[in-house]
Amino acid sequence: MRRIQHFIDGELTAGTSGRSSDVYDPATGEVQAQVDLASATEVDHVVASASKAADEWAESSLTQRTQIMFRFRELLASRTDELARVISSEHGKVVSDAAGEVARGLENVEFACGIAHHLKGEISEQVSAGIEVYSLRQPLGVVAGVTPFNFPAMVPAWMFATAIACGNAFICKPSERDPSASMLIAEWLIDAGLPPGVFSVINGDKEAVDALIDHEDVAAISFVGSTPIASYVYERGTALGKRVQALGGAKNHMLVLPDADIDMAADAAVSAAYGSAGERCMAISALVAVGSVADELVEAISKRIPGVKIAAGTEPDAEMGPLITGEHCARVAGYVQRAQDDGAVAVVDGSEADLPQKGFFYGPTLLDRVTPEMECYRDEIFGPVLSVVRVETFKEAIDLINSNPFGNGTAIFTRDGGAARQFQHEVQVGMVGINVPIPVPVAYHSFGGWKSSLFGDTHMYGPEGVRFYTRAKAVTARWPDPSSSQIDLGFPRND
Ligand code: NAD
Repeated sequence: MRRIQHFIDGELTAGTSGRSSDVYDPATGEVQAQVDLASATEVDHVVASASKAADEWAESSLTQRTQIMFRFRELLASRTDELARVISSEHGKVVSDAAGEVARGLENVEFACGIAHHLKGEISEQVSAGIEVYSLRQPLGVVAGVTPFNFPAMVPAWMFATAIACGNAFICKPSERDPSASMLIAEWLIDAGLPPGVFSVINGDKEAVDALIDHEDVAAISFVGSTPIASYVYERGTALGKRVQALGGAKNHMLVLPDADIDMAADAAVSAAYGSAGERCMAISALVAVGSVADELVEAISKRIPGVKIAAGTEPDAEMGPLITGEHCARVAGYVQRAQDDGAVAVVDGSEADLPQKGFFYGPTLLDRVTPEMECYRDEIFGPVLSVVRVETFKEAIDLINSNPFGNGTAIFTRDGGAARQFQHEVQVGMVGINVPIPVPVAYHSFGGWKSSLFGDTHMYGPEGVRFYTRAKAVTARWPDPSSSQIDLGFPRND
């Protein structure tokens, strides 16, 4: 059976822990590979290699770094299809969707190509007689990124592109369910001229994550995954005095006002709820229908669902692939069953869909008359399940969204500019779409939710990513005439 190793010091490195984990092909339900799971000793090894590389890399010129990023950008763009197929084979998402993921990751690499602009400091001339003050941003050293299964190429790119361009060495700990995308990226960075050790992949589970957090030579941790683990990583890392940004789960609401274009809103709801089988942190999972719009909208969505082509991700016309594991598939089915027991109406029940015989498939599900107390509303299901919550007023809708513990993404569908502006102003959510269902910011803005969707102070990538992966230094300098030197025990003043 194919074995997925680690990538240390610029080469494939076999695991030595004796532990490994199954990697499935979700479209067939069969195990296709075994991934090595690192021990703390192997984490020591990768950190030692990264530390050595970090010292030299921090001294590399901005020209060198940007040239490598430009070369990597070209490689990634020309090999998108190859990477998309690898993602699809382990994650299950359809190839076109995986190619979209790579394209969004590519934006982060393009942002990193312009890193010189973002590392420019500021200078204040003549703050006092003959004195200048200027600021610098310097790399942290070795930084690590722990990533989730649902975007095996894009989420690592959110982190490593900026981290490396800022002069750090980056260690990626991808999800053990679909680790091959990071391994390909590691090889291609070497092809682009990145020195060995600047980007490494250590495969593993909790043991590897804990060892990375605890290692004294790892300066900062970026994490993306579920809320309980995000909170845990944040607590453990910050208790050791480290910089941590930990992005967690979500329950994203789409609010539809009665004046919205129903066809446009229904198309958006189907795309955002069932794309990637709902396994997106920005997927819409709660639809808040205000007043009279509910009946019409529920009907428009239910009419569209039979048209969604469910098949293995590699089928040319597939629109929705399988879920990540059989266990997760059963979990989603359990939520749908209990929702009905709780009183929700299954307008479309995914367990009754015409599905491929093999693999971890579950059909698009539309639950109506869901109330905020129901488990299917409270929990992040992370599957193709859309819950419709009916409310009477716009205010009730905003209050509902604001009382949710998550605050990752949200969207409003309306033709009323005043309502959209009020929504954008009042909603307690980090990323807001106005007639845009999945408002993932472009790479030159930053990505991050509020409340239980993010632990830490900085959002990911873009300008906040540069701040996260660098440390500021302020220099106060004087080049005096030696004859003016004198002793002064008072506190320095800028007279
Ligand atoms: P997960 O939390 O199970 O795993 C994420 C990472 O943490 C993996 O690399 C995993 O190996 C590691 N991990 C798992 N258990 C651990 C433990 N006990 N201790 C230390 N490390 C551990 O998440 P997942 O199932 O891979 O991904 C889906 C989740 O990620 C969803 O909740 C989704 O909303 C979230 N997500 C959030 C964003 C965002 O931007 N906020 C983006 C993508 C995914």
